[in-house]
Amino acid sequence: MKIGVIGAGTMGSGIAQAFAGTEGYSVVLCDINNEFAENGKQKIAKSLQGRVLKGKMEQSAADAVLNKITTGTKDLCTDCDLIIEVALEDINVKKQTFKELQEICRPDTIFATNTSSLSITEIGKGLDRPVVGMHFFNPAPVMKLVEVIAGLNTPDELAEKIKTIAEDLGKTPVQIKEGPGFVVNRILIPMINEAVGIYAEGLASAEDIDTAMKLGANHPMGPLALGDLIGLDIVLSIMEVLQRETGDPKYRPNPLLKKMVRGGKLGVKTGEGFYNYGK
Ligand code: NAD
Repeated sequence: MKIGVIGAGTMGSGIAQAFAGTEGYSVVLCDINNEFAENGKQKIAKSLQGRVLKGKMEQSAADAVLNKITTGTKDLCTDCDLIIEVALEDINVKKQTFKELQEICRPDTIFATNTSSLSITEIGKGLDRPVVGMHFFNPAPVMKLVEVIAGLNTPDELAEKIKTIAEDLGKTPVQIKEGPGFVVNRILIPMINEAVGIYAEGLASAEDIDTAMKLGANHPMGPLALGDLIGLDIVLSIMEVLQRETGDPKYRPNPLLKKMVRGGKLGVKTGEGFYNYGK
C-alpha cells in the first residue's frame, strides 16, 4: 500500500516511520516544500540510528525503512492508496488540503486525518469524498493506540478499513464516535492544563508536580513533561477546541499556557517549555 503523509513534523515523521517499518507499505512524506519534507525524513533517520546504536535494529533494516520513504510535496500523492493528513491543527488548513488532494488523487484513494481534536464531520463538509479520523499518539512508531473516529458522514466500512490498517501496523485501534477531544485528549489535556495551573499558582515545582503524578497515580510520565513532549501549542489548541465546542468553562486554558505559547516556549520541539532541552 502506498501511503501519502501530509505534514512532516513531529507526528507526520513518526507516522511515516511506523508505516515504512511495516512490510507491504511505502510512504510519500510531504510538506509545504521539499526542504521541510526532507527535514522530516532526517528526523526518521535520526530515530532509526538511535535504535541501531542501542542494538535494537540492524543498520541494513534501518536503511531499508528509509529507502521506503520518498519526500516532496502533495502533488506526488496522486497514486496513493491512503492519505493521512498530519498538517497544522487548523480546520481551514485541513479542509483546503483535502480539497486539493481530492482533485488530484485516484478515485479509490482513502482520506484520513490525524487531527487531535477537530470535528471530522466539519473537516469532511463540502468535500467530494469522506474523511475518517486516524489518530496516532506521540511517538507514533512506539505508541500502541490509534483512535479511529467516524464523523457523522463517515461510512462504517471506511472506519473498518482504517482499523484493519492500524492492526497491520501492530497498533490497537479503538473506534469512537466523533466528540470534542475524542477519548484520550478529552481526559488527558484538561489534566495537563490543571498541572499548568498548579505550577502557575506556585504550589509546587514542575519536577514535584511530575513526580507526584508519576508516583501517586502511576503515570509513566508527569503531566508537564508530557505537555512539553506533545507541544504546548497543541495542548493549547485542544483546550480551545474543548472550550469552544462545549461552551463549558471547565475547559478554560490556563493563562500561563497561553503566555508560553505566545513566547515560543512550546516544549521539546523548541528546546524549552516547562523544562529546558538545550538546542
Ligand atoms: P508540527 O508542527 O510538528 O508539524 C506540522 C507540519 O505540517 C509542519 O512540518 C508544517 O510545515 C506542515 N504543514 C503545515 N501546513 C501544511 C500544508 N498545508 N501542507 C503540508 N504540510 C503542512 O505538528 P505535529 O505535532 O506533527 O501535529 C500535526 C497534526 O497531528 C496536528 O493536527 C496535531 O493536532 C496532530 N497530533 C499531534 C500530536 C502530538 O503529540 N504532537 C499527537 C496526535 C495528533
